[in-house]
Amino acid sequence: MKKTGIFYHEICGREAYKPLVMGLEEGFESLKKDKEITLASNILFFESKPAEEEWIAYIHTKDWINYVRERTGYWRCSIYSAGGVVEATKKVLRGEIDNAMVFAGVGGHHAHRDHAWGGCYFNLEAIAIEYARRNFGVKRFAVVDIDTHHADGTIDIFRDDEDVLYVCFCGWWGEKGEKGKAKVCLSHANNDEEFIRKVEKEVPPLIRNFKPEILYWVCGIDTHKASYGTQKLTEKCYPEIAKIVKMCADENCNGRLIVMFYGNAPAWVCEYITPKIVKCLAEIETAK
Ligand SMILES: [Zn+2]
Ligand SMILES: [Zn+2]
Repeated sequence: MKKTGIFYHEICGREAYKPLVMGLEEGFESLKKDKEITLASNILFFESKPAEEEWIAYIHTKDWINYVRERTGYWRCSIYSAGGVVEATKKVLRGEIDNAMVFAGVGGHHAHRDHAWGGCYFNLEAIAIEYARRNFGVKRFAVVDIDTHHADGTIDIFRDDEDVLYVCFCGWWGEKGEKGKAKVCLSHANNDEEFIRKVEKEVPPLIRNFKPEILYWVCGIDTHKASYGTQKLTEKCYPEIAKIVKMCADENCNGRLIVMFYGNAPAWVCEYITPKIVKCLAEIETAK
């Protein structure tokens, strides 16, 4: 069994970017209602701490940091969300836990160094990656992003960085990465079976060839048919994707996997998905 860390702070749930984040709090609470999770000795709950400004400044300009603090109303949620991802990264790299699920009340992948949009303020994964590079000497990173939108911010930040593999399922660049071999945009699929097959076929070889030391899964679920994206996936799809992503981390990254969950689908969808992802990470067999 793997040791799994859950990272959440009530600020992330309560002060979430409401137009997009629909079920973060409920997704977290459903873990607390699940005895198989709360009684498991290999699942640990952590309260996310705020990211230090110094870490945010690894990626973002001073002007943008000040703008987020003074003008957006999402400063607290942003620093607790980024702090959760950094804290999870730290614990995984120290070997205190094998993998983690982080609940973030704002997105990250539309955040560039000096601007952002779409419910993102700071680039959560970029901050964590840079933190791991500077403080742990990690060289190779991979991010698998299944959100329906293009990760313009992260891809921009790591544009010329061939040590960061970014796999995006946005459909923007067709089937190839135009910005270098480590940035790949794949097309969507509009039903569970097709999407699972696609992830199964495309992601493992990319990870295997790239050989990252740690894997981040941007688990955007706006591809759900009841969410605001235009895809038609159901809640049953995401636990299957979890199995594939986890297998990639186990086979290539010594199990080091950080799942970033944003709750961008209705609460009942989040409540269904989160316990299943956590049990997959922790390798708990559920009694059916
Ligand atoms: Zn999206
Ligand atoms: Zn893309």
